[in-house]
Amino acid sequence: MEEKRTEINDLGEFGLIDKITKGFALTNKESVLGVGDDAAIVKNDDGEQLVVTSDMLLEGVHFDLSYIPLVHLGFKAVAVNVSDIAAMNAIPKQITVNIGLSNRFSVEAVDMLYQGIKAACDHYKVDLIGGDTTSSSSGLVLSITAIGVQKEASIVKRSGAAENDIICVTGDLGAAYIGLTVLEREKQVYLTNPNMQPQLDKYDYVVQRQLKPDARMDIIHELAELNIKPSSMIDISDGLASELLHLSDNSKVAMAIYEDKLPIDKQTYDTAYEFQLDPTTCALNGGEDYELLFTISQEDFEKLKNHRDIHFIGYVRNLKEGNVMQTKGGNTVPLQAQGWDHMKKEK
Ligand code: ADP
Ligand code: MG
Repeated sequence: MEEKRTEINDLGEFGLIDKITKGFALTNKESVLGVGDDAAIVKNDDGEQLVVTSDMLLEGVHFDLSYIPLVHLGFKAVAVNVSDIAAMNAIPKQITVNIGLSNRFSVEAVDMLYQGIKAACDHYKVDLIGGDTTSSSSGLVLSITAIGVQKEASIVKRSGAAENDIICVTGDLGAAYIGLTVLEREKQVYLTNPNMQPQLDKYDYVVQRQLKPDARMDIIHELAELNIKPSSMIDISDGLASELLHLSDNSKVAMAIYEDKLPIDKQTYDTAYEFQLDPTTCALNGGEDYELLFTISQEDFEKLKNHRDIHFIGYVRNLKEGNVMQTKGGNTVPLQAQGWDHMKKEK
Protein backbone atom coordinates (compact mmCIF):
# COMPACT_ATOMS: atom_id res chain seq x y z
CA MET A 1 0.00 0.00 0.00
CA GLU A 2 2.13 2.80 -1.36
CA GLU A 3 0.90 6.09 0.04
CA LYS A 4 0.96 9.51 -1.55
CA ARG A 5 4.27 11.26 -0.99
CA THR A 6 4.75 15.01 -1.32
CA GLU A 7 8.31 16.27 -0.89
CA ILE A 8 8.71 19.04 1.68
CA ASN A 9 10.70 21.01 -0.92
CA ASP A 10 7.63 21.10 -3.18
CA LEU A 11 5.71 22.92 -0.49
CA GLY A 12 8.55 24.93 0.99
CA GLU A 13 9.15 25.62 4.66
CA PHE A 14 6.43 28.25 4.98
CA GLY A 15 3.93 26.19 3.04
CA LEU A 16 4.63 23.28 5.35
CA ILE A 17 4.25 25.38 8.50
CA ASP A 18 0.95 26.74 7.16
CA LYS A 19 -0.34 23.30 6.38
CA ILE A 20 0.55 21.67 9.69
CA THR A 21 -0.59 24.51 11.94
CA LYS A 22 -3.81 25.38 10.10
CA GLY A 23 -6.13 23.14 12.13
CA PHE A 24 -5.05 24.55 15.50
CA ALA A 25 -7.12 27.23 17.20
CA LEU A 26 -6.35 29.15 20.39
CA THR A 27 -8.72 28.05 23.14
CA ASN A 28 -7.21 29.35 26.38
CA LYS A 29 -7.65 32.96 27.47
CA GLU A 30 -3.98 32.93 28.44
CA SER A 31 -2.97 32.46 24.79
CA VAL A 32 -3.02 35.96 23.33
CA LEU A 33 -1.18 35.40 20.05
CA GLY A 34 -0.20 32.13 18.41
CA VAL A 35 1.50 31.01 15.22
CA GLY A 36 2.22 33.65 12.58
CA ASP A 37 4.31 36.39 14.12
CA ASP A 38 7.91 36.54 15.29
CA ALA A 39 6.90 35.36 18.74
CA ALA A 40 3.78 34.23 20.54
CA ILE A 41 2.19 36.15 23.41
CA VAL A 42 0.89 34.59 26.63
CA LYS A 43 -0.51 36.28 29.70
CA ASN A 44 -1.52 34.98 33.08
CA ASP A 45 -3.67 36.12 35.95
CA ASP A 46 -2.25 38.07 38.84
CA GLY A 47 -0.82 35.80 41.46
CA GLU A 48 -0.33 32.92 39.06
CA GLN A 49 3.10 31.73 38.14
CA LEU A 50 4.23 30.27 34.84
CA VAL A 51 5.64 26.76 34.87
CA VAL A 52 7.84 25.90 31.87
CA THR A 53 9.32 22.59 30.74
CA SER A 54 10.99 21.16 27.62
CA ASP A 55 11.68 17.69 26.30
CA MET A 56 13.71 16.75 23.28
CA LEU A 57 13.25 13.47 21.43
CA LEU A 58 15.78 12.18 18.90
CA GLU A 59 15.08 9.43 16.43
CA GLY A 60 17.24 6.40 17.18
CA VAL A 61 17.83 7.55 20.75
CA HIS A 62 14.34 8.10 22.19
CA PHE A 63 12.11 6.49 19.62
CA ASP A 64 12.21 4.02 16.76
CA LEU A 65 9.84 4.78 13.91
CA SER A 66 9.75 1.14 12.91
CA TYR A 67 7.32 0.55 15.75
CA ILE A 68 5.92 3.87 16.91
CA PRO A 69 3.56 5.41 14.33
CA LEU A 70 4.14 9.15 13.82
CA VAL A 71 0.67 10.00 15.07
CA HIS A 72 1.44 8.30 18.39
CA LEU A 73 4.83 9.93 18.57
CA GLY A 74 3.20 13.35 18.22
CA PHE A 75 0.74 12.57 21.00
CA LYS A 76 3.40 11.12 23.26
CA ALA A 77 5.78 14.06 22.81
CA VAL A 78 3.04 16.40 24.06
CA ALA A 79 1.94 14.03 26.83
CA VAL A 80 5.43 13.75 28.36
CA ASN A 81 5.64 17.54 28.60
CA VAL A 82 2.15 17.79 30.06
CA SER A 83 3.20 15.15 32.58
CA ASP A 84 6.02 17.42 33.79
CA ILE A 85 3.60 20.32 34.17
CA ALA A 86 1.20 18.01 36.07
CA ALA A 87 4.05 17.00 38.37
CA MET A 88 4.29 20.64 39.49
CA ASN A 89 0.55 20.54 40.25
CA ALA A 90 0.09 23.09 37.45
CA ILE A 91 -2.33 23.33 34.52
CA PRO A 92 -0.80 23.19 31.02
CA LYS A 93 -1.87 26.01 28.70
CA GLN A 94 0.49 26.26 25.72
CA ILE A 95 3.11 24.33 23.80
CA THR A 96 5.69 25.21 21.19
CA VAL A 97 6.99 22.51 18.86
CA ASN A 98 10.41 22.44 17.22
CA ILE A 99 11.05 19.90 14.52
CA GLY A 100 14.12 18.89 12.53
CA LEU A 101 13.34 16.87 9.41
CA SER A 102 15.60 14.89 7.14
CA ASN A 103 14.55 14.44 3.51
CA ARG A 104 13.24 10.97 4.37
CA PHE A 105 10.14 12.71 5.69
CA SER A 106 7.34 13.70 3.37
CA VAL A 107 4.68 16.33 3.92
CA GLU A 108 2.23 13.50 4.66
CA ALA A 109 4.53 12.15 7.38
CA VAL A 110 4.77 15.55 9.09
CA ASP A 111 1.01 15.81 8.79
CA MET A 112 0.61 12.53 10.70
CA LEU A 113 2.94 13.79 13.41
CA TYR A 114 0.85 16.95 13.74
CA GLN A 115 -2.40 14.98 13.85
CA GLY A 116 -1.04 13.33 16.99
CA ILE A 117 0.06 16.69 18.39
CA LYS A 118 -3.42 18.07 17.64
CA ALA A 119 -5.13 15.14 19.36
CA ALA A 120 -3.00 15.75 22.46
CA CYS A 121 -3.69 19.51 22.37
CA ASP A 122 -7.43 18.75 22.32
CA HIS A 123 -7.13 16.10 25.03
CA TYR A 124 -5.09 18.25 27.43
CA LYS A 125 -6.70 21.57 26.40
CA VAL A 126 -3.44 23.21 25.43
CA ASP A 127 -2.80 25.63 22.57
CA LEU A 128 -0.04 25.24 20.01
CA ILE A 129 1.38 28.76 19.88
CA GLY A 130 4.55 28.40 17.82
CA GLY A 131 7.67 26.50 17.04
CA ASP A 132 10.49 26.17 14.57
CA THR A 133 11.13 24.01 11.54
CA THR A 134 14.58 23.13 10.26
CA SER A 135 16.22 20.44 8.20
CA SER A 136 18.12 17.68 9.93
CA SER A 137 20.81 15.33 8.69
CA SER A 138 20.05 12.71 11.30
CA GLY A 139 16.42 11.72 11.05
CA LEU A 140 13.62 13.27 13.06
CA VAL A 141 14.23 15.65 15.92
CA LEU A 142 11.24 16.71 17.99
CA SER A 143 11.48 19.17 20.84
CA ILE A 144 8.45 20.46 22.70
CA THR A 145 8.17 23.16 25.33
CA ALA A 146 5.07 23.36 27.49
CA ILE A 147 3.88 26.29 29.59
CA GLY A 148 1.50 25.88 32.50
CA VAL A 149 0.06 28.09 35.22
CA GLN A 150 -0.65 27.74 38.91
CA LYS A 151 -1.09 29.96 41.93
CA GLU A 152 2.17 30.22 43.80
CA ALA A 153 0.71 28.60 46.92
CA SER A 154 -0.46 25.54 44.97
CA ILE A 155 2.74 24.70 43.15
CA VAL A 156 4.22 21.39 44.34
CA LYS A 157 7.96 20.75 44.15
CA ARG A 158 10.13 17.74 44.77
CA SER A 159 11.32 19.27 48.01
CA GLY A 160 8.35 19.26 50.40
CA ALA A 161 8.10 15.66 51.64
CA ALA A 162 8.14 15.41 55.45
CA GLU A 163 8.63 12.52 57.86
CA ASN A 164 5.50 10.35 58.31
CA ASP A 165 3.98 11.49 55.00
CA ILE A 166 2.39 8.74 52.93
CA ILE A 167 3.90 7.84 49.55
CA CYS A 168 1.31 7.61 46.76
CA VAL A 169 1.54 6.45 43.18
CA THR A 170 -1.11 6.62 40.46
CA GLY A 171 -2.05 3.96 37.91
CA ASP A 172 0.27 1.01 37.48
CA LEU A 173 3.97 0.63 36.86
CA GLY A 174 6.33 -1.27 34.58
CA ALA A 175 3.90 -1.75 31.70
CA ALA A 176 5.54 0.73 29.32
CA TYR A 177 8.89 -0.98 29.72
CA ILE A 178 7.36 -4.40 29.10
CA GLY A 179 5.53 -2.95 26.10
CA LEU A 180 8.83 -1.78 24.67
CA THR A 181 10.33 -5.22 25.24
CA VAL A 182 7.46 -6.77 23.28
CA LEU A 183 7.80 -4.25 20.44
CA GLU A 184 11.55 -4.83 20.20
CA ARG A 185 11.03 -8.56 19.99
CA GLU A 186 8.40 -8.20 17.28
CA LYS A 187 10.74 -5.93 15.35
CA GLN A 188 13.47 -8.56 15.44
CA VAL A 189 10.99 -11.19 14.27
CA TYR A 190 9.94 -8.91 11.43
CA LEU A 191 13.54 -8.17 10.43
CA THR A 192 14.24 -11.90 10.23
CA ASN A 193 11.07 -12.67 8.34
CA PRO A 194 9.18 -9.70 6.85
CA ASN A 195 6.20 -11.93 6.04
CA MET A 196 5.50 -12.48 9.72
CA GLN A 197 2.78 -10.20 11.05
CA PRO A 198 3.36 -8.92 14.57
CA GLN A 199 1.28 -10.76 17.18
CA LEU A 200 0.34 -8.02 19.58
CA ASP A 201 -3.25 -8.81 20.67
CA LYS A 202 -2.16 -10.54 23.81
CA TYR A 203 -0.02 -7.54 24.71
CA ASP A 204 -2.51 -4.78 23.92
CA TYR A 205 -2.33 -3.06 27.30
CA VAL A 206 1.46 -2.99 27.72
CA VAL A 207 2.03 -1.95 24.10
CA GLN A 208 -0.48 0.85 24.44
CA ARG A 209 1.25 2.01 27.63
CA GLN A 210 4.48 2.32 25.65
CA LEU A 211 3.02 3.90 22.53
CA LYS A 212 0.30 6.10 24.00
CA PRO A 213 1.09 7.24 27.53
CA ASP A 214 -1.43 9.54 29.20
CA ALA A 215 -0.28 12.36 31.48
CA ARG A 216 -2.31 12.26 34.71
CA MET A 217 -4.03 15.63 34.52
CA ASP A 218 -7.18 13.83 35.73
CA ILE A 219 -5.48 13.25 39.08
CA ILE A 220 -4.29 16.87 39.30
CA HIS A 221 -7.88 18.08 38.86
CA GLU A 222 -9.22 15.54 41.38
CA LEU A 223 -6.66 16.51 44.01
CA ALA A 224 -7.67 20.14 43.58
CA GLU A 225 -11.36 19.23 43.97
CA LEU A 226 -10.56 17.31 47.15
CA ASN A 227 -8.55 20.25 48.40
CA ILE A 228 -5.40 18.17 48.68
CA LYS A 229 -1.99 19.62 48.01
CA PRO A 230 0.69 16.93 47.93
CA SER A 231 3.77 17.80 49.99
CA SER A 232 6.06 16.74 47.12
CA MET A 233 5.53 15.35 43.64
CA ILE A 234 7.38 14.06 40.57
CA ASP A 235 6.30 12.22 37.44
CA ILE A 236 7.62 8.72 36.84
CA SER A 237 9.61 8.87 33.64
CA ASP A 238 12.77 6.98 34.61
CA GLY A 239 11.35 4.36 36.96
CA LEU A 240 9.91 4.51 40.47
CA ALA A 241 13.21 3.89 42.30
CA SER A 242 14.98 6.77 40.60
CA GLU A 243 12.07 9.15 41.24
CA LEU A 244 11.83 8.14 44.92
CA LEU A 245 15.51 8.99 45.29
CA HIS A 246 14.90 12.39 43.68
CA LEU A 247 12.18 13.13 46.26
CA SER A 248 14.51 11.92 48.99
CA ASP A 249 17.40 14.09 47.79
CA ASN A 250 15.30 17.19 47.35
CA SER A 251 13.28 16.80 50.53
CA LYS A 252 16.13 15.57 52.75
CA VAL A 253 14.08 12.64 54.01
CA ALA A 254 14.12 8.89 53.26
CA MET A 255 11.53 6.75 51.50
CA ALA A 256 10.39 3.32 52.67
CA ILE A 257 8.18 1.30 50.31
CA TYR A 258 6.66 -2.18 50.34
CA GLU A 259 7.09 -4.49 47.36
CA ASP A 260 3.63 -6.01 47.85
CA LYS A 261 2.02 -2.57 47.53
CA LEU A 262 3.47 -1.79 44.10
CA PRO A 263 0.66 -1.47 41.53
CA ILE A 264 1.45 -3.81 38.64
CA ASP A 265 -1.11 -4.80 36.02
CA LYS A 266 -1.77 -8.50 35.39
CA GLN A 267 -0.66 -8.26 31.77
CA THR A 268 2.61 -6.67 32.93
CA TYR A 269 3.12 -9.57 35.35
CA ASP A 270 2.35 -12.27 32.84
CA THR A 271 4.44 -10.72 30.08
CA ALA A 272 7.35 -10.04 32.42
CA TYR A 273 7.42 -13.74 33.34
CA GLU A 274 7.22 -14.70 29.68
CA PHE A 275 10.35 -12.61 29.08
CA GLN A 276 11.98 -13.90 32.25
CA LEU A 277 11.97 -10.46 33.79
CA ASP A 278 11.11 -9.68 37.39
CA PRO A 279 7.90 -7.58 37.47
CA THR A 280 9.14 -5.70 40.54
CA THR A 281 12.35 -4.74 38.75
CA CYS A 282 10.27 -3.52 35.81
CA ALA A 283 8.15 -1.39 38.15
CA LEU A 284 11.20 0.00 39.98
CA ASN A 285 13.53 0.53 37.05
CA GLY A 286 11.50 0.41 33.87
CA GLY A 287 10.74 3.75 32.32
CA GLU A 288 8.09 5.89 30.70
CA ASP A 289 5.18 5.12 32.98
CA TYR A 290 4.28 8.83 33.20
CA GLU A 291 2.35 8.19 36.38
CA LEU A 292 2.55 10.57 39.35
CA LEU A 293 4.52 9.84 42.50
CA PHE A 294 3.63 12.12 45.40
CA THR A 295 3.55 12.37 49.16
CA ILE A 296 0.64 13.49 51.31
CA SER A 297 0.32 14.30 54.98
CA GLN A 298 -1.47 11.71 57.12
CA GLU A 299 -4.47 14.06 57.55
CA ASP A 300 -5.19 13.85 53.83
CA PHE A 301 -5.20 10.04 53.76
CA GLU A 302 -8.89 9.74 54.72
CA LYS A 303 -9.90 11.73 51.64
CA LEU A 304 -7.90 9.55 49.28
CA LYS A 305 -8.00 6.12 50.83
CA ASN A 306 -10.79 4.79 48.60
CA HIS A 307 -9.54 6.35 45.38
CA ARG A 308 -9.74 3.84 42.50
CA ASP A 309 -6.40 4.74 40.99
CA ILE A 310 -4.15 6.03 43.77
CA HIS A 311 -2.04 3.46 45.61
CA PHE A 312 -0.28 3.86 48.94
CA ILE A 313 3.10 2.22 48.67
CA GLY A 314 5.01 3.35 51.74
CA TYR A 315 5.92 6.22 54.02
CA VAL A 316 8.49 8.96 54.51
CA ARG A 317 11.00 8.70 57.34
CA ASN A 318 14.19 10.28 58.63
CA LEU A 319 16.99 10.64 56.09
CA LYS A 320 19.33 8.70 58.39
CA GLU A 321 17.09 5.62 58.17
CA GLY A 322 17.81 5.23 54.44
CA ASN A 323 15.77 4.61 51.28
CA VAL A 324 14.53 1.03 51.30
CA MET A 325 12.04 -1.46 50.00
CA GLN A 326 10.62 -4.20 52.14
CA THR A 327 10.38 -7.28 49.92
CA LYS A 328 7.53 -9.75 49.81
CA GLY A 329 9.81 -12.16 51.66
CA GLY A 330 10.21 -9.68 54.51
CA ASN A 331 13.76 -8.55 53.70
CA THR A 332 14.72 -4.91 53.60
CA VAL A 333 16.78 -3.89 50.58
CA PRO A 334 18.22 -0.48 49.68
CA LEU A 335 16.50 1.38 46.85
CA GLN A 336 18.81 1.84 43.90
CA ALA A 337 18.28 3.95 40.82
CA GLN A 338 19.17 1.90 37.83
CA GLY A 339 16.87 3.83 35.60
CA TRP A 340 15.83 3.08 32.22
CA ASP A 341 19.06 3.75 30.34
CA HIS A 342 20.71 1.13 32.44
CA MET A 343 18.04 -1.42 31.58
CA LYS A 344 18.42 -0.67 27.89
CA LYS A 345 22.16 -1.24 28.04
CA GLU A 346 21.73 -4.53 29.82
CA LYS A 347 19.96 -6.11 26.91
P1 ADP B 1 10.97 33.05 12.41
O1 ADP B 1 11.68 33.15 11.11
O2 ADP B 1 10.58 34.34 13.02
O3 ADP B 1 11.61 32.08 13.34
P2 ADP B 1 9.32 31.05 11.29
O4 ADP B 1 9.20 31.32 9.85
O5 ADP B 1 10.29 30.05 11.74
O6 ADP B 1 9.55 32.42 12.03
O7 ADP B 1 7.90 30.65 11.84
C1 ADP B 1 6.74 31.33 11.46
C2 ADP B 1 5.64 31.06 12.45
O8 ADP B 1 5.35 29.69 12.45
C3 ADP B 1 6.04 31.41 13.87
O9 ADP B 1 4.88 31.85 14.54
C4 ADP B 1 6.48 30.09 14.45
O10 ADP B 1 6.30 30.05 15.85
C5 ADP B 1 5.58 29.12 13.73
N1 ADP B 1 6.19 27.79 13.53
C6 ADP B 1 7.30 27.50 12.82
N2 ADP B 1 7.55 26.19 12.78
C7 ADP B 1 6.57 25.61 13.52
C8 ADP B 1 6.26 24.28 13.88
N3 ADP B 1 7.01 23.24 13.51
N4 ADP B 1 5.15 24.06 14.63
C9 ADP B 1 4.39 25.10 15.03
N5 ADP B 1 4.60 26.36 14.71
C10 ADP B 1 5.69 26.64 13.97
MG1 MG C 1 12.00 30.09 12.80
